[in-house]
Amino acid sequence: MTDTTTPDTTSADKAADNFSTLALRAGYDPAEHNYASSVPIYSTTSYQLKDEDRCTAIAGFEVDDDVYTRISNPTNRVLEQRLAALHGVEGAVVTSSGSAAIFNTLLNAITAGGRLLTTYRLYGDTVSQFNEVLPDYGIGIDIVEDPDDPASWEAGIKPETRALFVETISNPLTIVPDLEALAAVAHRHGILLIVDNTVATPYLLNPFDYGVDVVVYSTTKAINGHGNAIGGAVVESGKFDYANGNYPQFTRKSWFFKDRSFNSRSVLDVAPDTPFTTRLGALLVTLLGASQSPFDSYLTLVGLETLAVRLDRENDTTVKIVRYLETEKAAGRIVAVHHPSASDYPYRALADKYLHRGYGALLSFDVDSEERKKHVIDALQLFSLQANLGDSRSLVIDPFLITHPELTLEQLRIADVSRSSIRLSIGLEEPELLIADLKQALDKAFAQ
Ligand SMILES: *Cc1c(COP(=O)(O)O)cnc(C)c1O
Repeated sequence: MTDTTTPDTTSADKAADNFSTLALRAGYDPAEHNYASSVPIYSTTSYQLKDEDRCTAIAGFEVDDDVYTRISNPTNRVLEQRLAALHGVEGAVVTSSGSAAIFNTLLNAITAGGRLLTTYRLYGDTVSQFNEVLPDYGIGIDIVEDPDDPASWEAGIKPETRALFVETISNPLTIVPDLEALAAVAHRHGILLIVDNTVATPYLLNPFDYGVDVVVYSTTKAINGHGNAIGGAVVESGKFDYANGNYPQFTRKSWFFKDRSFNSRSVLDVAPDTPFTTRLGALLVTLLGASQSPFDSYLTLVGLETLAVRLDRENDTTVKIVRYLETEKAAGRIVAVHHPSASDYPYRALADKYLHRGYGALLSFDVDSEERKKHVIDALQLFSLQANLGDSRSLVIDPFLITHPELTLEQLRIADVSRSSIRLSIGLEEPELLIADLKQALDKAFAQ
């Protein structure tokens, strides 16, 4: 029996209605894999090519049969097709890490002399990649003056700007940007809107519903959910016009994409519906080598099966924890709570517009001093002090010291990150136990 439950995945709306079914089944037909129910790990470097006819078809990009695992792998392909289906689109590529997903995406979108317009409301290592690495290779980085104001983004666009980049739920302050407004700005200038949707995951937000062109993930986080494999993914809308003159790398005829008669072609000739991920996968990931390990794709596939139920529970627990922290704020033991469910959260209208299945499991709170922050973190017992998020275990981290050390004090100020901030990533433990842990830690910190 073929897998008739793998639904038509061409419409984003449809994908929204059957998220868990897609997360369990899309992109995989057991009949093609000895009827194995769980996706097999294809632990092989290369594949028997059978004969010269098949080699000719492969070399001409007529079939996407596997040749060598740095180029493609059946386990990786299931994860790619499943992630594409969860977004209601066609094109996705997995990478060795979220950082590799971001790096390869920017190399694909911006050639030497081009520029990226972004903000400091980003994961710390992303800021470092932008500040420390890309400019040396000819990709300029500009920081928007007021990230809350679409007009400020528009004003920041230079003739060389090729993409805008934001996180859909920023870390640690959980700020939700106005994606539709940013997409309108980007498209008025014929450039890409690229978003990092790691914290939201495709379950809370499908960025393609709002005009986003390219979505990147660290699958390491909630998509995997079990803290056991580093990975990344790049997904594309399939709607952007790469022939608009701003992206000659997509229209240039290249020997690399030649057909079976040795005619050079552009990537748009080869893959008109998925040019971004085809070029990213076939050229950049393949040639620069940031391919995902099939074993890690397998772990990610297993984790992804339960994304919806994990996030439903984590969303509920997180709101309970926010309510508790707000009572501590009223009692004067906490200075601020940052989460879309917090009563004074300044971006509520945007969170409600874009996050339809809950506000997510990441939050942070500020205490009155760095000294107090240290005492609270050291007194927590159930929360693990760990640099990860989206794990099924609840985690705590000091953003100033660990996740955002790359930001200078001035950049932290611009990003509104407090030095007395504590970030929590809520997992699947009983909410009452997590709240009790926070309470005893605050009690201890105030008894010092
Ligand atoms: C962790 C993270 C990354 C980097 O991903 P890795 O898998 O660790 O390389 C990028 N963006 C966000 C928002 C992250 O949380």
